[in-house]
Amino acid sequence: MSRRDLVLEEMGLGPRWRLRARPDVDFVSAPEALESTSNAVAPMVAAAMPSARREIILQMDWPTLKGAVEQCSACPLHAKRNKTVFGVGDERASWLFVGEGPGADEDAKGEPFVGQAGRLLDNMLAAIGMKRGEDVYIANVVKCRPPNNRNPESGEMSCCEPYLTRQIELIRPKLIVAMGKIAASHLLQTDAAVASLRGRVHEYRGTPLIVTYHPAYLLRTLADKAKAWTDLCFAQDHMAAIVAAGNQAHEER
Ligand code: SF4
Repeated sequence: MSRRDLVLEEMGLGPRWRLRARPDVDFVSAPEALESTSNAVAPMVAAAMPSARREIILQMDWPTLKGAVEQCSACPLHAKRNKTVFGVGDERASWLFVGEGPGADEDAKGEPFVGQAGRLLDNMLAAIGMKRGEDVYIANVVKCRPPNNRNPESGEMSCCEPYLTRQIELIRPKLIVAMGKIAASHLLQTDAAVASLRGRVHEYRGTPLIVTYHPAYLLRTLADKAKAWTDLCFAQDHMAAIVAAGNQAHEER
């Protein structure tokens, strides 16, 4: 066993996330910013009524949006956070991975998916030839850690919604991968289980969206890693189709 395998085994990530034979995937097609500095905008956002607050956030550029999240106290989650967890990666990425919210490691570091689940996500990305930050952006539905790793509540998600919405507008990803029930439910406005949402291409405001399991769930349910691998292959195939369609449209112009 290699040293890397031993380390992963010790971390409880064994057997290592590895390339398996690609499953036969049933391909199902689916159908200026505020110029103000973040310091000046934050009090304005805080004082605004919810609908006005949302409209202000949806006009923000990256620096203003990051500053607004850093200083946000719009929902009770701000009280116990150490750091806000804005998101990380290529701000023009083709791929956007969305999870539910920060855990303890993320709260301490201010970056999403840095604990065991994060390492598994990195391995999952590596398995399909991708790397965090390279054409990939990772974000969460809520930007502050829910205490005791509980699920974010609906009011908290509603409060935080404009931030993720604006991130998606600014990134303009070709494909969104929703990881876990919270992210899928939030983005698709459905109560359906992950199991029933997998294997299909959904749509989030015109952007294709694929649902898979959350890496933290996979750490607890190793048997479902194979299903997540199927989902990633499905997503990769769909991305290839999107890119091919884009190239063809470009040639026809
Ligand atoms: Fe603000 Fe979102 Fe943090 Fe709530 S979770 S305080 S809305 S940044």
